[in-house]
Amino acid sequence: MQAQFDPDTERYTVVVSKTFYIETFGCQMNAHDSEKVIGTLEHEGYIQVPDEAEAGLILYNTCSIRDKAEQKVFHRLNEYKRMQGEGKKFAVIGCVAQQEGERIFERAPYVSIVAGSASYRNLPSMLARLEAGENRITGLDDRQTDQTFDTEFTVRSNPHRGYITIIEGCDKFCAYCVVPYTRGKERSRTSASVLVEARRMADQGFTDIQLLGQNVNSWRDPSGRLSFAELLSAVGNIPGIRRVRFTTSHPRDFTRDIVEAIDATPALCDHVHLPVQSGSSSVLHAMSREYTREWYLERMSWIHAAKRDISITSDMIVGFPGETDADFEETITLLGAVRYDAVFAFKFSPRPNTPAVHMADSISDEVKSERLRILNDRQREIQREHYARHLGQTIEVMVESFNPARGQVVGRSTQNKTVNFTQAEGLSQPPIGSYLPVQITRTMPNCLIGEAAPGSVPLQATRTPQPFVVLN
Ligand code: SF4
Repeated sequence: MQAQFDPDTERYTVVVSKTFYIETFGCQMNAHDSEKVIGTLEHEGYIQVPDEAEAGLILYNTCSIRDKAEQKVFHRLNEYKRMQGEGKKFAVIGCVAQQEGERIFERAPYVSIVAGSASYRNLPSMLARLEAGENRITGLDDRQTDQTFDTEFTVRSNPHRGYITIIEGCDKFCAYCVVPYTRGKERSRTSASVLVEARRMADQGFTDIQLLGQNVNSWRDPSGRLSFAELLSAVGNIPGIRRVRFTTSHPRDFTRDIVEAIDATPALCDHVHLPVQSGSSSVLHAMSREYTREWYLERMSWIHAAKRDISITSDMIVGFPGETDADFEETITLLGAVRYDAVFAFKFSPRPNTPAVHMADSISDEVKSERLRILNDRQREIQREHYARHLGQTIEVMVESFNPARGQVVGRSTQNKTVNFTQAEGLSQPPIGSYLPVQITRTMPNCLIGEAAPGSVPLQATRTPQPFVVLN
């Protein structure tokens, strides 16, 4: 709703307009998809509201990666049900929408739109049909689409750090993963279109860019001009860009020139997230990961040999069907061999429509939980020792927030570590999005603690940041 002033009557009138509320779950790709969906809706004349009670259209951007995702979605839709009498419309989008398809209409008949991420480019026509009174609109493109969701309208919620999707979909078909079925086949954007977007973002005041893809280093330039490593360097060399990250990488496509690019380009962050999933070659084979423990360790040796101290993080799954005690032990020894800076570990749970659903889930939940505990304990010990290398270092931190309870500024290092620090007495709090050197005085297993280096002046974005950005 908006208030409009009528100069003739000198009175305000309330205008009911097209309003929407969006709720987002899942990974950075989903978060960035929501930014694009918001931009598209705003271009179609909708106004975003912060509360579902005020919205005419409620969108629910779903994630299907974790256990019981569908149940959680239907549970949430059930909560929406009580609002159906208020004339609200509902849209379920994202991975669970693609996975469950029209079944959503059967279980939640008050939902009007069900659309997977490969169909978002058709949102304007879906909204037009909704406004015309249709109430069962689907956007469920299958894997055959060749189009990217390269909308020219993107509303970025953070004025300093922004995402750019460079590749959508996945062709790897790991046995446990739903992504190839929910997000379609791999479609890369041209290097020219990525670089145009990155330069515009730099002009608008963004200093930190994250290149995204479900399988980001599978990116292949459709114009054949640049390799992935060359694209990283090109984005990193744009004036005004201070940090570039990329996620998520696949070991199969991880090449040595990526490490060389990080060594040669100061703006590329000292961080590689390279999910291994298991330390056992036989489990990796069962997972259809297309590499072995030795292949993975060779890539680790390139990173360890780099001139810069590159932090390494990973995802791991414990209790995959058939994982023996000996296989699990190989995962534990891998932790020691790599010395990760962080590991995100999960118990295996079968996802609908994936090959792993048909494998006998031979490991009991009790054993999975115990393996997860052992893994997390071991990793915590490694992090405790490994983070100690930062003691006494002065590192550059990007300011993200302020913790008033502790009187600390919270920021992030180029290695993607959280740094909590204090300012010298009498100095004002540094602006969000600024960079400053921090001397590390204490290290914890999951964060670093320090003090702003004496005499340091926060470095701010060289251009004026804008809270919301519309690209065209
Ligand atoms: S590489 Fe494997 S885990 Fe990653 S998105 Fe593709 S299928 Fe899923």
